[in-house]
Amino acid sequence: MKTAPFEEGIEPQPATASCQVEDFGIAPQNCLGGEPLSPCIIIIFGASGDLTFRKLIPALFRLHCNMGLPHPIRIVGCARTPMDDGEFRESLKTGVLAGGVHDVSCWDAFAACVRYRPLEYLDPGDYRLLARYLEELDEESGTQGNRIFYLAVPPALYETVSRCLGAAGLAQEGMDGKRWSRIVVEKPFGRDLESAAVLDRVLHENFLEHQVFRIDHYLAKETVQNVLMLRFANSIFEPVWNRQFIEKVKIIAAETLGVGKRAGYYEEAGVLRDMFQNHMMQLLSLTAMEPPSHFETELVRDEKSKVFRALRPFPVEQLYEFLVSGRYEAGIVDGARVPGYLEEPGVSSGSLTPTFASMKVFIDNWRWQGVPFYLTSGKRLAKKLTEIQIHFREVPHSIFRHVIGQRIHKNVLTLGIHPDEKISLVFQTKNPGATLRLRPVTMDFHYSQNYAGPLLDAYEKALIDCMRGDQMLFWRQDAVELTWSFLSPILERCETCTDRSRMIFPYEAGTWGPAEASRLEEG
Ligand code: NDP
Repeated sequence: MKTAPFEEGIEPQPATASCQVEDFGIAPQNCLGGEPLSPCIIIIFGASGDLTFRKLIPALFRLHCNMGLPHPIRIVGCARTPMDDGEFRESLKTGVLAGGVHDVSCWDAFAACVRYRPLEYLDPGDYRLLARYLEELDEESGTQGNRIFYLAVPPALYETVSRCLGAAGLAQEGMDGKRWSRIVVEKPFGRDLESAAVLDRVLHENFLEHQVFRIDHYLAKETVQNVLMLRFANSIFEPVWNRQFIEKVKIIAAETLGVGKRAGYYEEAGVLRDMFQNHMMQLLSLTAMEPPSHFETELVRDEKSKVFRALRPFPVEQLYEFLVSGRYEAGIVDGARVPGYLEEPGVSSGSLTPTFASMKVFIDNWRWQGVPFYLTSGKRLAKKLTEIQIHFREVPHSIFRHVIGQRIHKNVLTLGIHPDEKISLVFQTKNPGATLRLRPVTMDFHYSQNYAGPLLDAYEKALIDCMRGDQMLFWRQDAVELTWSFLSPILERCETCTDRSRMIFPYEAGTWGPAEASRLEEG
């Protein structure tokens, strides 16, 4: 099997050096830490759907079990599907069990906080009834008028739901800051620059910016946040974190899953909208940003936006040299035969939607001038893997050249995001023994090593931050628009050029994507 283009340069490791985690007497905290959260009601629109079932409710349940939720809290599911509270709770329990939670001993206490309200998304009257219901719930349970409206509906409904919430008075906050109202919008934030701006305008008809939470759960992953800790809480990395020492950076987000039941959405989105506009750009900005003067929400978001502003406009007239797109064909994944993209239910036989892309981008500033960043993402690849690789330059002069005649491999620092949450550094040592030979070894730190407290999954962290009102790990609109400004010309070129079908290279499911992807690094 072809090796991944992003694995080049890493030799099999004959020895591993592990990393001792120092315990400086810091007691493990429960996942809440800090100030207690204010009581609130979380209202989920689209509560009969996949996101609620697979992600939101399991996350809220785990928080409940780890005493990470405010008290009191109520969770109200809203959708068109007719259900009563009991049926809704039962369906959610199935989702929690399917997600691998085996201890449901605290389920009953959690389920007692959960309600269901059927609602037609387009009917303003239903929102007025909802408003009255929420007030009753406040009185009955003491949730103090605080609300989070979570839009887990298809993106085409975001604007309608936001407007209806506004018309029913549900976006209003108390003058004293005590009754807050927040709206959480899931990606995709529009499908291009124009639609992203329209969505933002509509949200702001009723909600102020501090009320809008544009969620990208990647940002809330512990190891993604850890990129900033590694870079800015250590003095040894920043001096070499630049064009002088770094040859290239590779960011990969590989999935083994295919399009599953989400063909309707994916056919419209494709890999560039689904992964690049959001997750890949966030990983890029964390890797490339300058240190903010303080770890404060707006200062961190300012630095990320500066990275997006410095992205070199994509040379769309030389698309082939900077972008390789692909589409999976039938193959073997995790030992099972899987169909190709065109055979998936809901995918049209003439589809030209790419499921893989690898892209070479540059950041035009002093730190990164000339350093290529390779961003790669795809479905049905060989392994589920998200990581950032920093490839350092070769030693400027090898004093061992005449003695051992070996090529000295470059140092690579890998920030593993998923499934291995780790930091590893490959470096050279002397092979033990009489013969003078080099031995590349890996020093590994596993994120959960020597840590006994509960680890927060991305949705848990995002939900907690939203309850806290902390927007640091959420997208700011200027960044949304800057990334769309960068990607829209690429999408336009890909979607309008006459030889579109020739631009999408087939790859067998279970491999590392089309062979053509390796040419990006050759150019
Ligand atoms: P679903 O397709 O499962 O839809 C959620 C609910 O919305 C459905 O249960 C349905 O409820 C209602 N709905 C679906 N289609 C329509 C329609 N055409 N008109 C009106 N209502 C409809 O979506 P997901 O739960 O997968 O995703 C929700 C949002 O989150 C989407 O915007 C998605 O892009 C985003 N997202 C999802 C992720 C995931 O892992 N699922 C990951 C990241 C983002 P009912 O018919 O009962 O009203």
